[in-house]
Amino acid sequence: MTDVRALYQEVILDHNKNPRNFRVMEDADQFLEGYNPLCGDRYVLYLRMNGETISDVSFTGSGCAISKASASVMSTIVKGRKREEALRLFEQFHDLVTGHNDSHIHPENLGRLAVFAGVSEFPARVKCASLAWHTLKAILQEQKTAVTTE
Ligand code: ZN
Repeated sequence: MTDVRALYQEVILDHNKNPRNFRVMEDADQFLEGYNPLCGDRYVLYLRMNGETISDVSFTGSGCAISKASASVMSTIVKGRKREEALRLFEQFHDLVTGHNDSHIHPENLGRLAVFAGVSEFPARVKCASLAWHTLKAILQEQKTAVTTE
């Protein structure tokens, strides 16, 4: 448990300080804003698709360390994935951070995402951790209106 917690801290600190894919994407196919009013996290997520495959993903904006780190980790994980795979990952991530990680999820398949299981101990942080994922899901499902966690 201590190791998982240490890894969690490390991943959050690293990705918050050095967020990956943190840039405006000029040639994005789609972009959408996500807002978490409880914490003030606000990001824009950019996506470029090649058919059913996510060929590029980036984000800009600001918020707490967990929201930024989660968006950053997400961007590294969903790039190159199919739309359906990314939506499945959303479900797994959501189950993980809401503490419903029991039967069908294999943490080893989630890689770096698994460290976010620590968030389930802090209900107020679940929305921070899942904001970028909700925004991704909305884009993949071609929702046009901004996402809020309320
Ligand atoms: Zn937050």
